Amino acid sequence: MSLRSQGRRSSPPGLVRVGAGPEIALNSLRFFRRSSAATRENERTVSESVGRVVVVEDETAVREAVVAGLRQEGFVAHGYADALDARAILGFAPDLAILDVRLPSGSGFALARRLRDLSALSIIFLTARDAVADRVEGLELGADDYVVKPFALEELLARIRAVLRRAGRLATVLEAGDLLIDEGGGWATRTGRPLPLTATELRLLAFLVRHRGQALSKDQLLTQVWGYDAYDPNLVEVHVSALRRKLEQSGPRMIQTVRGIGYRFAA
Ligand code: CA
Repeated sequence: MSLRSQGRRSSPPGLVRVGAGPEIALNSLRFFRRSSAATRENERTVSESVGRVVVVEDETAVREAVVAGLRQEGFVAHGYADALDARAILGFAPDLAILDVRLPSGSGFALARRLRDLSALSIIFLTARDAVADRVEGLELGADDYVVKPFALEELLARIRAVLRRAGRLATVLEAGDLLIDEGGGWATRTGRPLPLTATELRLLAFLVRHRGQALSKDQLLTQVWGYDAYDPNLVEVHVSALRRKLEQSGPRMIQTVRGIGYRFAA
């Protein structure tokens, strides 16, 4: 896995981009506020093992956007504005810590050492600095990954899931009605029958299920599932109809069309 975040060239509508400035951060927060009701619904109805994640970051907008993004994905997340006491942070019993390298009272590396002395949690460093020395120091400390700001939130979430999965702390199976999806394992079944999905269809289905009940626009799906800068609604339409065909061989419709917006998963 690359140690650099893959910077996007521009921010299409709907892209949640973190650490790129106050204007973008405000947009991110609005995005999260709008979807918070649906998130609570998700937590009740989608069964997935969630991880516990702490975010230690002194930039308020970044910290809040990451915590909100984690909660939207079903994680239990808590933010800290400074390194503080490692024992206090571990009192939250995190599976994973996201640590900013530059914190008001010292370096995230020093905090990582203290956390690692006391716990076997996974660590991802977050920093605006792109210095090779930092990456080396972080990895020598046993960091599991390293993300350079500014980054797209969905990329950080994907890395968090990957780190937790490697550490055996994240069950990958999503369940929705008669549907089971193992994104990490690369399979899905409906009423016990394997669905012959392509990698993109599987990613799209998992994203729809994670956000079930929410109306998702086509540009939001493009950004979050494909990661494209361009707006090409045809791409989404083609994949949704292929996915529907495969899903509906084993039962009633699960992906609804939301007029003037896009799609919603309901099961
Ligand atoms: Ca900082």
